[in-house]
Amino acid sequence: MFYNGRMTETPLRAPMEIAFDYTRSLGPVLSQFMTALRERRIMGARGADGTVHAPPFEYDPVTYRPPAELVEVGPAGTVVSWSWMPKPAAGQPLDRPFAWALIRLDGADTAMLHAVDAGSAAAMRTGMRVQARWAADRVGSIRDIARFEPCSAAKTDAPAAAAPPQAATDGEPVAMSVTPVRLRYQHTASPAESAYLRGLAEGRLVGQRCPACGKVYIPSRGICPADGVPTDSEVELPATGTVTTFSVVNVGYPGQEVTPPYVAAAVLLDGADIAFQHLILGCDPGEVRMGMRVRAVWRSREEWSTTARNISHFAPAGEPDAPYESYARFL
Ligand SMILES: [Zn+2]
Repeated sequence: MFYNGRMTETPLRAPMEIAFDYTRSLGPVLSQFMTALRERRIMGARGADGTVHAPPFEYDPVTYRPPAELVEVGPAGTVVSWSWMPKPAAGQPLDRPFAWALIRLDGADTAMLHAVDAGSAAAMRTGMRVQARWAADRVGSIRDIARFEPCSAAKTDAPAAAAPPQAATDGEPVAMSVTPVRLRYQHTASPAESAYLRGLAEGRLVGQRCPACGKVYIPSRGICPADGVPTDSEVELPATGTVTTFSVVNVGYPGQEVTPPYVAAAVLLDGADIAFQHLILGCDPGEVRMGMRVRAVWRSREEWSTTARNISHFAPAGEPDAPYESYARFL
């Protein structure tokens, strides 16, 4: 493709994923709701005005007080609205086409959102009777209801006859809810970012210089933010630099690759006009300081690819600290 009027290589593309487990404490009401699901029971909350909400409210919409009592509802109910899901996404309740439905469970006055496994959109209708199908392994989650299914004619007329068996109380009340969040996307690197990444694959640090102000950016975004002109000349930078600012990470999280405490720092490479973020390892976190001279530690060549992970971390270079004036304008 053409970039800045000259031939460049095709931009790089790669699949990316951002993922984390959203974890929250349930509080007293939802804890009872989730704990009951584990026992194959669905609980609603009776409000001050007599209406039964399922799922239960945490605070009464009329009095703003916590519910005085939870009451069992369902497990059958009536579809009050629905939408067909012809191509289920990863992680949804069913891996075949299904309906998202608002279901007013027997004994409740409000509707609950869940999946209905009806086979086809033609089999769905508002007012149809559905029945909860429980998951074989229940952990105290809304997914303990695997799905709802259309009731058979017999069950339609006698929901009480379909009452689920009462399992014995199983362990402690459910106090936490964990919701995995996953975002997968395809990232296309800009021509400038692609040049930076291809440089890393060769063990080189490649930035770009602004023709107007002469500043060197790494990685470059292909344009000088001050002058608004393309940064079209490449500059190879050394693997040494100066810590301008830093923070000590003391908080752990799932999937963390380095055990806290460790230092994440802004490193200003020699010859660059903008700092980038990297790890500082190879010394006690308490030794890291502004002005500290550091050097990139590359992973072994067999691990290299076109990613920023080719540099494992930065480590002390063993040189005298840079004077504050040398990096003050980059803070
Ligand atoms: Zn510029």
